[in-house]
Amino acid sequence: MHYISTRGEAPELAFDDVLLAGLAADGGLYVPKTYPAVARGDIAALAGLPYDAAAARLIEPFAGEIGAGVLRDATRAAYAGFSHRAVAPLTQIDDNLFVLELFHGPTLAFKDLAMQLLGRLMNHVLEQRGLGATIVGATSGDTGAAAIEAFAGQNRVDVFILYPDGRVSDVQRRQMTTVADDNIHAIALRGTFDDAQSILKSLFRDSAYRKRLGLAGVNSINWARVVAQMVYYFTSAVALGAPFREVSFAVPTGNFGDVLAGYVAKRMGLPLSRLIVATNANDILARALASGRYEPRGVTPTQSPSMDIQLSSNFERLLFDALGRDAGALRAAFASLDQSGGFDIPPEALAAIREDFDARAVSEAETSAEIARTYRESGYVLDPHTATGVHAARARLAVDPSTPVVALATAHPAKFPAAIERAIGERIELPPRLAPILTAEERFSRLENDEGRVRAFIEDHARATRLATRV
Ligand SMILES: *Cc1c(COP(=O)(O)O)cnc(C)c1O
Repeated sequence: MHYISTRGEAPELAFDDVLLAGLAADGGLYVPKTYPAVARGDIAALAGLPYDAAAARLIEPFAGEIGAGVLRDATRAAYAGFSHRAVAPLTQIDDNLFVLELFHGPTLAFKDLAMQLLGRLMNHVLEQRGLGATIVGATSGDTGAAAIEAFAGQNRVDVFILYPDGRVSDVQRRQMTTVADDNIHAIALRGTFDDAQSILKSLFRDSAYRKRLGLAGVNSINWARVVAQMVYYFTSAVALGAPFREVSFAVPTGNFGDVLAGYVAKRMGLPLSRLIVATNANDILARALASGRYEPRGVTPTQSPSMDIQLSSNFERLLFDALGRDAGALRAAFASLDQSGGFDIPPEALAAIREDFDARAVSEAETSAEIARTYRESGYVLDPHTATGVHAARARLAVDPSTPVVALATAHPAKFPAAIERAIGERIELPPRLAPILTAEERFSRLENDEGRVRAFIEDHARATRLATRV
């Protein structure tokens, strides 16, 4: 399988290079040249398979160069440490409404499902090539913790994670700052997630810097993460009767990586009815789908901080397909975004997007009310991100009560105890295996929102610059 850039001006790469590259050299995102098709019989045959076995089967067509045996070992190891044997179990909370629990990994958010696999695949490729790498990531909270957990103590990689100072929950911050391994660097940036992401993109666009440090990306723009997330759309839909019955998904959305994985599953042949994008007050996607205008506004902090994002990077991949894969048209849209702060999605492209997607912005009050309602009616505690998805799912069920909706539970409620206590008046405890982070010493560096500072900090602390060979 070969990969092309959405901006059309970077070389085609194979999976193992895309894995290390993250962002394409032209500033675009890598997408597969074609989506591999999964036959109906092969979808049906996933029923009853262990999660890691289903993952290896579904990912293999995207990752040919890695080899089926290596991939199988990597999926087995990636999911062995999850605290639930089913890895991604489904729970029913109402008529035709299901929650897909994606928080049984080591950092209690869905990011682990991709990151645990990505870490192992990256290590494999680096070892094979005898290279070191500098991983730089921007996080709204959960990606950073998941990346740190996946790469801590590994001698081929240094990890630098930028998070918006004061805008992540205490648990999220402590997960990043209490890891003692010296290849891990948590950076509190005095800015928003969008600021962090824009510094990151700029570092990756500087090809000299990128080469010197062997920069590798683990943000949701990394295609390997999208592909790892596609798996649970298949396994959960099959559990509810696919391919013989359609299912819809409601997805709490920030950078559009998770819901894009659902779109990829659909393109591979999984019969999905609607993909419902749930946003919080940072509603650029809901506005774009309703009006056709993609126009970021300032970021508003909410109780679902991992969705406090305006520039949803992975939307570019969907737009590329919706524009008939016309890289020139896509470049023009992003040039207009840079110059005039927005762009209009052409009518045919908007119609194509609306064929698969609905979107709904969920307010802070609605989010709290949803946590309270679900707890009252089913005794189930939703985290505030998941609550936006469940709220959007209920709106869909009001229109179409006969198609089951799976709401992705993207985090464990214990990561956001203040929001839970506000909604239901009860305190929720951190699972015992995470308790040590509450008292461990924190280690981080606080930097101004300034690309030059970040650039220099990484260069001063990265060991890859001192290794003879790098990516
Ligand atoms: C990252 C994250 C999201 C948003 O996912 P995207 O792939 O960025 O759309 C939602 N909820 C939680 C808990 C997250 O960590």
